[in-house]
Amino acid sequence: MNLSHDRLRPFITAIFQAAGCQPAEAARVATRLVEANLVGHDSHGVIRVPTYVQWLKAGKVLAGQSIKVVSENDAIAVIDGQFGFGQTIGEQAMRLGIEKCAKHGVAVIALRNSGHLGRIGDWPLMAAEAGKLSLHFVNTSGAGILVAPFGGTQRRLSANPIAAGIPVQGRSPILLDISACTLAEGKIRVALNKGVQVPENCIIDAQGRPTLDPKVFYANPPGAILPIAGHKGYGLAFLCEVLAGALTGGGCSNPEHADRVVNGMLSILIDSSFFQSDPAFATEIERFITWVKSSAKVTPGGDILLPGEIEERTKAQRTRDGIDIDATTWSQLVDIAKTVGLSEPEA
Ligand code: NAD
Repeated sequence: MNLSHDRLRPFITAIFQAAGCQPAEAARVATRLVEANLVGHDSHGVIRVPTYVQWLKAGKVLAGQSIKVVSENDAIAVIDGQFGFGQTIGEQAMRLGIEKCAKHGVAVIALRNSGHLGRIGDWPLMAAEAGKLSLHFVNTSGAGILVAPFGGTQRRLSANPIAAGIPVQGRSPILLDISACTLAEGKIRVALNKGVQVPENCIIDAQGRPTLDPKVFYANPPGAILPIAGHKGYGLAFLCEVLAGALTGGGCSNPEHADRVVNGMLSILIDSSFFQSDPAFATEIERFITWVKSSAKVTPGGDILLPGEIEERTKAQRTRDGIDIDATTWSQLVDIAKTVGLSEPEA
């Protein structure tokens, strides 16, 4: 199935509206999920819709929530997402961070108890569009324990994305958006739905043996995802758990809270104009980009991409050619549409 984003978005919006969201929130969630597909992160796109709807029905994510400020000063805010949709809560958290950063040059926003924040790259992009650099550390407290610690075979950590955005004059922002584990869990689900193998050196079975079979990951006892780069990725994941879990107050990965998927996020926003005069920062970034890209290429005619460039290219291609949705995901979307009461032709 290939669909243009313009057709997919209203369909997903209609599902969330029928499931109980107000029109604005339904459109917001749909827009961010379809955007994840557009930039090439299908693991965080519309494949999530059935799960989000099930969470909504079960009261594990709540419609119409707003952030609650737990404590704040000029540059810091500790906020509670009150289990609202991450697409709503993430936007509100970033707006608060951008406002504080504009006044004080820096802002630290510690967000706890947010619904799934989706593609974390959305949040540095929002900050970069407002002219701010930003760094984001994310964990999943409770459900979402997926990753084995370095040297271990059992799941102990969450997927722990780290994201950063750098606004660059005259071009799209640099956007780093990586999980500290080798593969986002959603990508294992995509492989399962497509009936294909996962890449090498990404997952292990319950005995710690490497496997390419996505079914092994969901077996009983389950497999686990490996951290990126061995002990280094494990160290970054540990840092994410501490910053996004312990410091925000949402908690680190904890099986006692495994009844719902909840994201915590520590965001640090920086206004470069408080640190460097206007042209100096932009000039140095531009010089550095040129220097990095000037390296000899591994393959003749090959390319060196900046973080975020591949998503930009994929977005241009998928906006033009449409978004491919595998048959399993499509039938799950149609099923959930009917479950929430959309009629057969609408679905
Ligand atoms: P990934 O491995 O696809 O890496 C993406 C990053 O690598 C991007 O910054 C991209 O621009 C860069 N990149 C990719 N190819 C490149 C190339 N050839 N040259 C230079 N840079 C390149 O991403 P991932 O770790 O699989 O994560 C996928 C998504 O899952 C992310 O959007 C992440 O935020 C999301 N995620 C969310 C949660 C959550 O709890 N909400 C948890 C885990 C992951």
